Amino acid sequence: MSPIPPPNPLPPDLAAIRDTVTRLFGATVIPAIRGYEERREFPRPLIRAMGEAGLFGAAFPEELGGTDLGFMAVAVISEEISRLRPDLGYCMNLQAMTCPFTILNWGTDEQAARFVPPLIAGERIGAFMLTEPGGGSDPAGSMRTRAVRDGDAYRISGSKQWITFAHEADTAVLFAKTDPAAGHRGITAFVIEPKSGPGYRADPIPMRNLSPVLASCAVFLDDFVVPAGNRLGEEGEGFRIAMNALEFGRLTVSARLVGAAQGCLDHALAYARERAVGGRAIGHYQMVQALIADMAAEIAAARALVRELAETMEAGRPANRIASLAKYFASRAARTAAANATEIFGGYALADEYPISMFKGFIEMLNVGEGSSNVQRVLIAEDALGYKDANRASVPARKFRAARKAAG
Ligand SMILES: Cc1cc2nc3c(=O)[nH]c(=O)nc-3n(C[C@H](O)[C@H](O)[C@H](O)COP(=O)(O)OP(=O)(O)OC[C@H]3O[C@@H](n4cnc5c(N)ncnc54)[C@H](O)[C@@H]3O)c2cc1C
Repeated sequence: MSPIPPPNPLPPDLAAIRDTVTRLFGATVIPAIRGYEERREFPRPLIRAMGEAGLFGAAFPEELGGTDLGFMAVAVISEEISRLRPDLGYCMNLQAMTCPFTILNWGTDEQAARFVPPLIAGERIGAFMLTEPGGGSDPAGSMRTRAVRDGDAYRISGSKQWITFAHEADTAVLFAKTDPAAGHRGITAFVIEPKSGPGYRADPIPMRNLSPVLASCAVFLDDFVVPAGNRLGEEGEGFRIAMNALEFGRLTVSARLVGAAQGCLDHALAYARERAVGGRAIGHYQMVQALIADMAAEIAAARALVRELAETMEAGRPANRIASLAKYFASRAARTAAANATEIFGGYALADEYPISMFKGFIEMLNVGEGSSNVQRVLIAEDALGYKDANRASVPARKFRAARKAAG
């Protein structure tokens, strides 16, 4: 850890939340995760412990088991988890945002009461099933998965790609076409329970640089039956719901990128102080200092953008523009951090003894998740040129805001 106070200081209440993460990970999660990896076992009890500590509930009202601390707390928790263990950062999307928050924001009160509490408690594992093999950057154009109404149910067939935690998921938000001729207006969202019946299979995709147990999967659905009461929103509303879910997902992903970048910087600082070459610690060489300065400056700027994004969401304002700016810049800052840390570690960046290549793998993954950097650039540039308002379809956190207001 750095002996100098980090930039972007936190007020005491948010610093206390960050310290809760640091303590839980130091005492319980980090010592235990290696055992799960060695046994190739999904770490359900650790996710449960994170849920019990309140790490997933910050964007949810207390009546659903949340802590109601708000989006800034979501960002702080996501960053700290990812700084310590970027692999477990996935949980902030699937247990705290894209799965349960989409159900809260778009579901009925009954759906929220039924599905949200066990997800944010870490009792049930969540997943978000949008991407298909035909290309994640154009989800509407590439979507081939079909949902066909059959009495009181829908029958879903098709395949999804890259679905994180799909092999363990108990509850998932899934998108399928109910009217293939209607383009993006023919997409409908559902809450599915993968273990509820036949016709669901999830095969983990082998990825050497990422976690051996927190997998992303290819998913195959064959006449999988979902009760009509599990439809989220109206038929045809799915694309809007997906875009809104990604908008909120960009908060956790951007914060996770900042956390992973800070992790790279922390490790690089420790190494630069201790590694002596030519009779001096390499931290004394100015070209190493230049690498460190670039990391520190870009991370501080990215963190400031993520905090602006959290404030915008907290205020209930449209956030898509700032979400793209934050996600894009955090990806750049994190890539700089990974590249510079690799250079500072020299050959040891590749040794399993140090986590640099693992951080690098997760930073590359986060760079594509919730819209790749290119997709963000297109959105940012079209908005700047006045071709398309980035906030045109933005939907603020409706129910969350309403619940807070009602609570006074
Ligand atoms: C480890 C991992 C976990 C993931 N978890 C999930 C999950 O849980 N749920 C889920 O739904 N998805 C998940 N994803 C999918 C992720 O969101 C997609 O990978 C992402 O949307 C990009 O899609 P793609 O990989 O198909 O790339 P493609 O869409 O094929 O894009 C390939 C390249 O082309 C570029 N490109 C594409 N279109 C344009 C354009 N119009 N202009 C300029 N450049 C363009 C992209 O930027 C990219 O560089 C995950 C991905 C990974 C790798």
